Amino acid sequence: MGLFHCPIGAAFYEDKVCIDCGLCMSKTREEAVAASKIVREYLRKHGTLRQQKYLIKKIAVCGKGGVGKSTIVSLLARTLGDFGYGTLVIDTDESNPGLHRQFGFESQPRPLLSLLSRFVLDQPASDSKWLSRDEIGFQDIPSEFLLQDDGLRFMMVGKIEDPLQGCACSMADVTRDLTLRLAPQDKEIVLIDHEAGIESFGRGVERGVDTVLIVVEPSFESVALAETIVYMAEGIGIGRIRAVLNKIPSEPVAEKIISTLRSKKIRYLGAVHTDPEVSAAGFEGRPPGDSRAKAEMEAITRLMLDEAEMKYDT
Ligand code: SF4
Repeated sequence: MGLFHCPIGAAFYEDKVCIDCGLCMSKTREEAVAASKIVREYLRKHGTLRQQKYLIKKIAVCGKGGVGKSTIVSLLARTLGDFGYGTLVIDTDESNPGLHRQFGFESQPRPLLSLLSRFVLDQPASDSKWLSRDEIGFQDIPSEFLLQDDGLRFMMVGKIEDPLQGCACSMADVTRDLTLRLAPQDKEIVLIDHEAGIESFGRGVERGVDTVLIVVEPSFESVALAETIVYMAEGIGIGRIRAVLNKIPSEPVAEKIISTLRSKKIRYLGAVHTDPEVSAAGFEGRPPGDSRAKAEMEAITRLMLDEAEMKYDT
């Protein structure tokens, strides 16, 4: 199969999990399109059935640019910590340089991109063997790649900082491989703060996650993109897809968005309203403190864990 990655996870054609979709054997565009359709239908059917019963272990937080994904991840990580969960936040945004501050860290960890020889960084090479393990526990990640404060861990794939440094394709590969291999233990959850948009789905970056949380703000584009994300996520077999409203200015606006999401059969967990504390924290580069937004995120997190029948400290 060469460099081809079977979307079903077969090691070779006619492997025991191969569904004979024909994708790896396709020679024409028409054959590849027909095979992709078979894969999507298979994943939609089997992924949904399989993952409805799964615990939440890896959450990808997605949405249009500027909807507040990092704010939601920050509030969610803190809430999960309060509920007794250890979290590993992975920053996959290649441009935002200050994300670590939203999680209370003053400096960035070493980027995972420094493990790629084809990526130009002004840092000495580092041992990358840990990244090829079949299963990577939180404790297997070298400390240089990790910032840690109690149960909160933060790592980042890397940032594009210089011209001719490399492209974001490498970052997508690293994120996908890491996410597939990460093996959180009991009461540990991985939160992936995703780059904006849907390109990552086209690359299959989310294949390793069990839950997609779509952040939706009051805008036509944001709601339209949510529908596309649902289509993409179902197409790679993710069974638990939920929306969280953010930057909501009033109840009538929330009601309108909720009714639109319902009409598109997108399940939502709750709403986070515009909050002066969140705005101040964003401007000052720090985690949001106690606020209405934090209380709303607690309610959303309870609902999410209840749905998966997961226990939490109260
Ligand atoms: S035929 Fe389809 S399922 Fe089988 S190995 Fe090829 S791509 Fe994978």
